[in-house]
Amino acid sequence: GTSPVSPEPNQSKPLDPKQLVMRAPQMDFTSNDFLFAKLLGLGSYSKVTKAKRKNTGEIYALKIMNKKHIIRENKVKFVKMERMILDQLDHPGVVKLCFTFQDVHSLYMGLECCTGGELFEQIRRSKRMSEEDTRFYTAEIVDILEYIHSQGIVHRDLKPENILISAEGNLKLCDFGSAKMFRPLPNGFFQSEEDSSAFVGTAEYVSPEVLHGKSASHSVDLWALGCTIYQMLEGRPPFKAATEYLTFQKVMARELSIPSHFSPEAKDLVDSLLNLKPNERLGVQGYDDIKNHPFFKGFDWSRLRKMATPKLL
Ligand code: ATP
Repeated sequence: GTSPVSPEPNQSKPLDPKQLVMRAPQMDFTSNDFLFAKLLGLGSYSKVTKAKRKNTGEIYALKIMNKKHIIRENKVKFVKMERMILDQLDHPGVVKLCFTFQDVHSLYMGLECCTGGELFEQIRRSKRMSEEDTRFYTAEIVDILEYIHSQGIVHRDLKPENILISAEGNLKLCDFGSAKMFRPLPNGFFQSEEDSSAFVGTAEYVSPEVLHGKSASHSVDLWALGCTIYQMLEGRPPFKAATEYLTFQKVMARELSIPSHFSPEAKDLVDSLLNLKPNERLGVQGYDDIKNHPFFKGFDWSRLRKMATPKLL
């Protein structure tokens, strides 16, 4: 996959803890309470391992972060942010944080385990996904983004590596380390706590407004959604070059060619999400604009999590 570009340390003021729901308890577990199975993934500052809790037999994905490494790499804010955000979110399409604990060396997050692996791998194995499977996965991502955005959260690193597949074949968003929390305003809109233009994310999925240093909002996730849909249908992301710098040039120039095998509806959906102007991007005015797009003609949104899921390859 692609590695994330190292983000600027997040300077936001800590949120008032009284406003936060703490769903996942901090436990006094030790690593001895678990039987460790296979490595599920390696992040830039974490290791994620499948683990069984000896007492209960329950299976988790344990995200293990070395304290010294986090401090040295200036990632403390990101780790706190991820913990706090996962605690706020409660949706079938967001990886659930079940508990946390720590020892002298490490911080541990007990996450629900997504045994289907990354959407990235599913795309890689299928080379190109059918429009039918793409439609299903896109609908699930749209449903997840609608939820997190309604909670005032922008993910900022949406990409197929951060979208996991459950044992049932449904998608779950993970890695909220780059995410941003906006404060709810009385009018129902959300305001960023601080300057949100600092570049975070991954080059291939970064939106032009972020590259122009403009204050970024949920529009950045919609751009990344456009890139992800393109990648499902074509097997590679739309903006890719030899170096990050060249990738940025392509994004800013919107050097985009949509393959001729895309249906007119898929072409239009990707084209509308990859709009250079964040205010005119499909979905910024509301998710119904995406749900009612011709690409989803006949799609029953009310049955989303009850439908048969694409076959895992
Ligand atoms: P990054 O470098 O992308 O910021 P990170 O250190 O924040 O990574 P994650 O992205 O959360 O770590 O996890 C790294 C990888 O571990 C994921 O891409 C995925 O492959 C795997 N993984 C994470 N959480 C789970 C889970 N709940 N179930 C299964 N696999 C997981």
